[in-house]
Amino acid sequence: MSTVVLNKKLSSNFYLMKVNKTLNAKMGQFAMIRAWDKYPLLSRPISVYDEDGEGVTFLYKVVGEGTSIFSKLKSGDSVNVEGAYGTSFPILNGRILLVGGGVGIAPLYLAAKTLKNNSKDSVIDVLLGFTDEPLLLDEFSKVARDFKYQVGGFITDLVNDESYDYIYTCGPSIMMETLYKKIVNKDKLYASFESRMACGIGVCLACSCMTINGNKKLCTDGPIFLAKEVFNV
Ligand SMILES: Cc1cc2nc3c(=O)[nH]c(=O)nc-3n(C[C@H](O)[C@H](O)[C@H](O)COP(=O)(O)OP(=O)(O)OC[C@H]3O[C@@H](n4cnc5c(N)ncnc54)[C@H](O)[C@@H]3O)c2cc1C
Repeated sequence: MSTVVLNKKLSSNFYLMKVNKTLNAKMGQFAMIRAWDKYPLLSRPISVYDEDGEGVTFLYKVVGEGTSIFSKLKSGDSVNVEGAYGTSFPILNGRILLVGGGVGIAPLYLAAKTLKNNSKDSVIDVLLGFTDEPLLLDEFSKVARDFKYQVGGFITDLVNDESYDYIYTCGPSIMMETLYKKIVNKDKLYASFESRMACGIGVCLACSCMTINGNKKLCTDGPIFLAKEVFNV
């Protein structure tokens, strides 16, 4: 069991929760979290937003029973955090654009930080799209060379793919698919996919997903895929 260090409300339904656990998470990986005993049955998958010497931080949106329980946790409460699970965004050098939408911005903070620290020569730009209240603007502006955000509209309209060697994305599937269709070189886009997940460790097959290489388990073969593997099926 770990302990909640901080559980801060950022907007009407977004929270940032820090837990005193070490996961050594790579960018794009997730944890299975539960803050209850028997009900709800399943732990909930949440991406790692950040990690430092004091613990691991998650950005979550309250959408149902599990996340609503998370939102009531106070500093000092116990929480079970298992992981880190899943694949990560590749560590690449060059001109890299991160495109996030809604709660899909969560894994992109650790991604921007990791890529920035990995190479002084890389350029990391970030585009974030929000439906209503924008979040974590100061944090993202510190880890990006160029940071832009938009409230409403389509964040994909701002993407100029020819300026980048690689693009990493996480957000609503319609946003990621629009981005995939827009970019000319399909080999440069890596995306984090989401589905309902039960075990998180590749046993139950609940998160099975069709790719050009056959059926894959989102929790262990993903959540990060070269986007064309999924969108080109
Ligand atoms: C790899 C991965 C990483 C994720 N990272 C984050 C994150 O960083 N922050 C975050 O807030 N959420 C993240 N999610 C989504 C999060 O797991 C769900 O929102 C959460 O499990 C919902 O639990 P709940 O009990 O609150 O909602 P439930 O009561 O289980 O469901 C409430 C509603 O949300 C829908 N729903 C639940 N889970 C999903 C899902 N995965 N996709 C689409 N609809 C869903 C249900 O159909 C229902 O309508 C991630 C999911 C995956 C698979």
